[in-house]
Amino acid sequence: MSEQPTHQKIALVTGANKGIGRAAAEQLAALGMTVLIGARDPRRGEEAAAAVRAAGGDAHAVTLDVTDPATVQEVAKHVEERFGHLDVLINNAGITGSGQVSPADAYDQVPSTVDLDMVRAVFETNVFGVIAVTNAMLPLLRRSPAPRIVNVSSHAASLTLTSDPGGPFATLLPSAAYSPSKTALTALTVQYANELRKDGVLVNAVAPGYVDTDSNNHSGYLTPAQGAAVLVRLATLGADGPTAGFFGEDGPIPW
Ligand code: NAP
Repeated sequence: MSEQPTHQKIALVTGANKGIGRAAAEQLAALGMTVLIGARDPRRGEEAAAAVRAAGGDAHAVTLDVTDPATVQEVAKHVEERFGHLDVLINNAGITGSGQVSPADAYDQVPSTVDLDMVRAVFETNVFGVIAVTNAMLPLLRRSPAPRIVNVSSHAASLTLTSDPGGPFATLLPSAAYSPSKTALTALTVQYANELRKDGVLVNAVAPGYVDTDSNNHSGYLTPAQGAAVLVRLATLGADGPTAGFFGEDGPIPW
């Protein structure tokens, strides 16, 4: 199906008020898309949207907590009424569940002692939230000539990398909540991709690399813009692009 010349591309990025999501929103806006900045806090969402507009892009804040079904439905209704369709969904919102690098809580994800409520909270955002948002947006995505879904996972999701006793991931902090939640997300990505392949919806998981953001107390070495590049690349795939894949900036990541 060829695209209408007048078709304005609409992208929704969850958790886009800061970090990698915000950088992805900036890059999609720079490509000419209308970007919906998903944020739990309307004020911070509006700040991010205003910054994108100040740089010449088209951005609007939408209040979206991926664990709150009412806000998810509200955003879907808003997109339906204002734009009638959605072209790109980036499921970026995510939490680690702990400080990870602060000495006090660095070991709070040791599997044998982990707080189950923390594991549940991490899955609620990183996995169940993605299902809720994706399913609410799918009717709108199906109206796009080139719908793309990008799920923001992590190298820590890779069972191949994390189970290699000699590899760099074996020495990472224990991660009974975050890492398995991202593994579940990549598995979910494949299931959605398989269901939606016949409809032309390309669904992929990406790992941004180790990025300097609040989520790791700014210990990452990539800038948010560098981390966001792979999200944007998978969000703007051509019709012959991959689906059911897992990619980093350097190419495919082992499952
Ligand atoms: P970040 O700066 O902490 O940003 C996370 C974003 O997600 C924030 O906007 C946050 O909103 C939002 N969020 C959290 N829970 C949410 C919820 N329930 N509903 C809606 N939004 C929610 O972290 P980041 O590093 O940019 O992370 C972005 C994604 O990349 C995450 O999925 C993360 O797991 C993944 N990732 C990051 C790295 C890295 O090195 N940084 C590596 C691999 C994967 P608030 O501002 O309201 O908290």
